[in-house]
Amino acid sequence: MVTARRPFIAGNWKMNLDHLQSIAFVQKLAWSLKDAKHDFGKVEAAIFPPFTDLRSVQTLIDADKLDLELGAQDLSDNDSGAYTGDISGAFLARLDVKYVIVGHSERRTIHGETDEVVGAKVAAAHRHGLVPVLCVGETAEDLEKHGPSAVPVAQLRAALTTLPAGAEIVVAYEPVWAIGSGQAATPDQAEQVCAALRDALVEIAGADSAAATRILYGGSVKANNIASFLREPNVDGALVGGASLDITEFASIVRYQN
Ligand code: PGA
Repeated sequence: MVTARRPFIAGNWKMNLDHLQSIAFVQKLAWSLKDAKHDFGKVEAAIFPPFTDLRSVQTLIDADKLDLELGAQDLSDNDSGAYTGDISGAFLARLDVKYVIVGHSERRTIHGETDEVVGAKVAAAHRHGLVPVLCVGETAEDLEKHGPSAVPVAQLRAALTTLPAGAEIVVAYEPVWAIGSGQAATPDQAEQVCAALRDALVEIAGADSAAATRILYGGSVKANNIASFLREPNVDGALVGGASLDITEFASIVRYQN
């Protein structure tokens, strides 16, 4: 069975743009997208602002009926209680947040998140009806030692032992060496790993779920390379960091295929 997967372009703002800046930014972005002569309706576009911006951005998306989905950059693996500084998936769901990034390499490295924690966060996202965008990817050292797919596939298996019936997930393959480096993977490299991740998903979740799951590439995606990634059969979109902070560039990425 061949399932059509809707292309997904996700903008990860990381720790950039405060809530006032986010309002001006989203208004201009929406204008840039609306202004386009092309129909980008086939593509799903989402933005992932910092927690403190979410309420402002959600209000704007709602009021102006913008064709943008809202995501958060992280969530707690707990639902409520004495967890100073953490944000519950329940709070995100109340803000109409649809997606949540889980296991980004910056969280794994800077905050020491293990595969176990990442797995617990995937489960927390599902408990609250959020769609986790599970990030996996190897360092340059891993690549040299273990080859291209071993570490990303192991991270996927560790975080996702099963997929509950009806639960959706997005997987993002983000080689750590490509993030913020200006040195993107080649489309061939991305396809090889995304295909291996899809094979692993078949075992974890079954053939139908694996065929329906969107797998993104992330790491130095720009307007001038997005189309080459999306041409690959197992790459269904992109997780965009730096280029998502430039309105013209991000709008061009969303309109990549036209
Ligand atoms: P980049 O970041 O596009 O700036 O390389 C991607 C990411 O970290 O998600």
